[in-house]
Amino acid sequence: MHETVFDRILRGTLPADRVYEDEDVLAFRDINPQAPIHVLVIPKAKFARFTEIASRPIEETGRFFSAVSKVATSLNLDSSGYRVVINNGRYSGQEVEYFHAHILSGRKLNWPPG
Ligand code: AMP
Repeated sequence: MHETVFDRILRGTLPADRVYEDEDVLAFRDINPQAPIHVLVIPKAKFARFTEIASRPIEETGRFFSAVSKVATSLNLDSSGYRVVINNGRYSGQEVEYFHAHILSGRKLNWPPG
């Protein structure tokens, strides 16, 4: 797998506005926010795409999504609500080939998405 910007952020060689970290995940603010709150959550155990989740340990996936929920709670988003987005592959517009979840909030989000 080629090195991505998220590998560098995780390693600490590229600065990021970190909001949460535990043994499984790192969360940091998106550099090009699409909403007033736009945070990315990455697993420390790297893989490229959501597609690969099917062949990864269930416990790891469970811990990842549990952490995404914790990040949203730590940002005080539970009462206002938020959206979790995962882009997978070309049609979704996935730019960074390091699996990640977007947490978006801080305004009413449109549905359907573009
Ligand atoms: P995706 O299109 O799902 O692959 O999303 C990649 C996201 O990473 C985009 O929203 C970018 O704005 C964001 N991004 C790219 N480089 C950085 C960076 N150095 N720090 C924070 N976010 C970044």
